[in-house]
Amino acid sequence: STPLHTKNKPTLEFTNVSEIPSLVSKLRTNFNQSTTKDLKWRKHQLRQLAKLLKENTKQITDALYQDVKKNFEEAYTTEILICINEINDCLMNVDSWAKPEKVHGDILINAFDNCQIRSEPLGVCLIIGAWNYPIQLLLCPLIAALAAGNCCLLKPSEISVATAAALTELIPKYLDNNCIAMVNGGVVETTALLKEKFDHIFYTGNGTVGKIIMSAASKTLTPVVLELGGKSPVYVDKHCNTKIAAKRILWAKCINAGQTCISPDYILCHKDSQASLIEDFNVALKELHTENPKSSETFARIVNKNHFNRLATVFKKQLEINNKTKISIGGFENFDENELYIPPTILENVKSGDPIMHDEIFGPLLPIITVNSVDEAIEYVNDRDRPLAIYSFSEKNAVSEKLLRSTNSGVALVNDLLMNMPVGSLPFGGVGASGMGNYHGKNGFDALSHKRGVMIRQKGMEFLNELRYPPYSPLKWKVF
Ligand code: NAD
Repeated sequence: STPLHTKNKPTLEFTNVSEIPSLVSKLRTNFNQSTTKDLKWRKHQLRQLAKLLKENTKQITDALYQDVKKNFEEAYTTEILICINEINDCLMNVDSWAKPEKVHGDILINAFDNCQIRSEPLGVCLIIGAWNYPIQLLLCPLIAALAAGNCCLLKPSEISVATAAALTELIPKYLDNNCIAMVNGGVVETTALLKEKFDHIFYTGNGTVGKIIMSAASKTLTPVVLELGGKSPVYVDKHCNTKIAAKRILWAKCINAGQTCISPDYILCHKDSQASLIEDFNVALKELHTENPKSSETFARIVNKNHFNRLATVFKKQLEINNKTKISIGGFENFDENELYIPPTILENVKSGDPIMHDEIFGPLLPIITVNSVDEAIEYVNDRDRPLAIYSFSEKNAVSEKLLRSTNSGVALVNDLLMNMPVGSLPFGGVGASGMGNYHGKNGFDALSHKRGVMIRQKGMEFLNELRYPPYSPLKWKVF
């Protein structure tokens, strides 16, 4: 039967692939008219996008509810507000970001030159979004691309159907259709899109598809930003206020039911802190989502049956392969396929090679691996792919600092999780297997701009230029 929150979901009409080449070529023609280079145009589009979000908040949050049962406050803060803040940051700063930056010629012969770094748009950008934050992950790259003066082709995830349908209806009403277009579809349509020549591809999603994107982009030497995922660890030290750690970790894990790229994937817990951490998790869960998270209005659902089955399978396999796995909170008997509900579930006695430790979990299951020291935690992290985020909880700053200094990750937070997201001035992006390139605020503007080195020379003072022309002499060489 259909889960209640998904009732009356709209159908999403996929774009006919035969229309894709002309759509891209229309954007290219319009980019070549230079309309998008005008700062007035850029700011108007950004204001229009803010208007779209403000005037249609209900329609958008209703769609997010239908897709994953995101409650209003979570949908508003993690999707709409993040975009509005990005827009405001761009509106306030785009004039100065886009202004040619004067630099100085550093040798005598360049002393009178006008040297500048100009941030110029790349051209036509393809933005491919993922389903877990279908507004933020499509619109934040769009905001950066518009601020930088690009034309954009948007491809929302076909999995978050209701949100994609809402955006398909709203975007053409608010934005310049000559310069911003949308294509809907799944693998077939995206594969057709990747055959076209773009000037940049901004992709958010899993690493397997990330490789497909990068390989397609390499055929036309198109630059990419890949916002991928991975297993983001949390280290809980021996010296730790577990009450605060438990509440913050569980809060972050429960947001969007763990379907967040920087969700805590697993805990590396010092053996001396484990008992009190579990005790505090129990208290925190009741405080955040009541005794029965299933009936809590603030706990989301798994996006679809495929992802539900993926999580159920890994969970069952974990119990089968490691029969010492202890379920401290939640458990399989509470999974509800009809409702697409998986409870917040905490697993102890997990070992490094266990099934649940293979791939990113991307759901509300949280395994704990016990360690004897921060060094053991560091070794564990460094033996694996570089994660998107690393988190550390310790009363001793030196311990967290050691963890940061000895590991690599896209982002890192000490004593909290996810709170970096609203800070526009912090770059957001992965490293190694968790992605390449970053955005938010000026970082996004820079990622979608080309830094053009421009030199404007004087035609006079030829006597100075004589120095560079042959015939050369030791005297000329000295002056250089
Ligand atoms: P998804 O299924 O929505 O896929 C992402 C996009 O890729 C979609 O638009 C989809 O149509 C397209 N796609 C799928 N298969 C394709 C193919 N064969 N060829 C071309 N395009 C294809 O989302 P997902 O991949 O399930 O997203 C979850 C993953 O994304 C997780 O790993 C998560 O950590 C990561 N993620 C990263 C960030 C970040 O900012 N770094 C944010 C959100 C999610």
